[in-house]
Amino acid sequence: MGIHEQDLAALHEQAVAWRRHLHMHPELSFQETRTAAMIADLLEAWGLAVRRGVAGTGVIATLEGGLPGRTIALRADIDALPIQDEKETEYASTVPGVMHACGHDGHTAQLLAAARYYSMHREETAGTRVFLFQPGEEVLPGGALGMIAAGALDGVDAVYGIHLWSPFPCGTVATRPGPFMAEPDEFEIEIAGQGGHAGLPHEAKDALVAGAHLVVALQTVVSRSVDPLEAAVLSIGQIRAGTARNVIADSCRLSGTIRSFDPRVRELVRGRMDDIIRHTCELHGVDYSFEFYEGYPPVVNDAAEADRVLRVASELHAAGEVRQCERIMAGEDFAYYLKERPGCFFFVGAGRADGTSAPHHHPGFDIDERAMLHAARLLIAVADDAAGDSGRA
Ligand SMILES: [Zn+2]
Ligand SMILES: [Zn+2]
Repeated sequence: MGIHEQDLAALHEQAVAWRRHLHMHPELSFQETRTAAMIADLLEAWGLAVRRGVAGTGVIATLEGGLPGRTIALRADIDALPIQDEKETEYASTVPGVMHACGHDGHTAQLLAAARYYSMHREETAGTRVFLFQPGEEVLPGGALGMIAAGALDGVDAVYGIHLWSPFPCGTVATRPGPFMAEPDEFEIEIAGQGGHAGLPHEAKDALVAGAHLVVALQTVVSRSVDPLEAAVLSIGQIRAGTARNVIADSCRLSGTIRSFDPRVRELVRGRMDDIIRHTCELHGVDYSFEFYEGYPPVVNDAAEADRVLRVASELHAAGEVRQCERIMAGEDFAYYLKERPGCFFFVGAGRADGTSAPHHHPGFDIDERAMLHAARLLIAVADDAAGDSGRA
């Protein structure tokens, strides 16, 4: 079946309204109660079979088409971030310190548009569509595992997910077969020294100085220990120490993230961190603890499904470039779905053509809302293509 462009265009106007509503009322990971209620109410009103409260605040809806075909799951994440919205728009966040700074509001709205579209064209739809509105993508351990444990992939033949992506111009479609997004691990180092008078440093153990040495020393892990042809990142995002100008800090906390694709690289990084932290703290006579939090696995696309997405996008004469892109060091818990079923995660460009859009997780982040139309159209076309496939043995 071809795509009914007029219906899609009308739905896009609604999607913009849904997205702006969500943007003004963002909710943090696993607290998306009003977001989930809005999603479930709409889906129920359109006649879909809806499950609420999946993995906490997730929603799963199922639509059985009128024609035979495979079962295709489409996933959107629904959570926002602890960031203060600094945009000057009428739809800026109304919640202090909370913001849809990753575009998950747009993911939700475009998937709602796709669900509504299918509810209008149920009889001519081949196979079954499962709509996964997943909570908590932004915080470990993520919402995907809980959704899968609750049966999100039961009977599902293939699964697809989109990320609207502001670094790419609006309408660009990009993905790649095989490893696509990195494993995002996190860590926390707590240094325990001995506080004291800043004028009498010899009577204290300065946790802050030890922490500062660590910040620098840890930079050598990737630059000196990892094979330059392998991909790895070690970023320290937070350092907290001290209470006053004239007080020696008795504790210092460092936290950050590690990105990698290969488990051997990740173990190497972890081991080098262990050594450097131990020896640096020893040198400074301070105690420490080192916590390593395993992140999502890497996002690894099924090769045939990535080919399908790029082929279908090309056939749609999408608004922008369609291309196979490089791996990127961001992570995604969509990885868990791909461990269970063939499928593909892909980017739809949502940024300005001149590349000046604010990056994801930035207080000035926004999307070109037309990207939601491209995303919904592509998701529908990919799902229809996959549903009609006879499938692989
Ligand atoms: Zn994000
Ligand atoms: Zn995201």
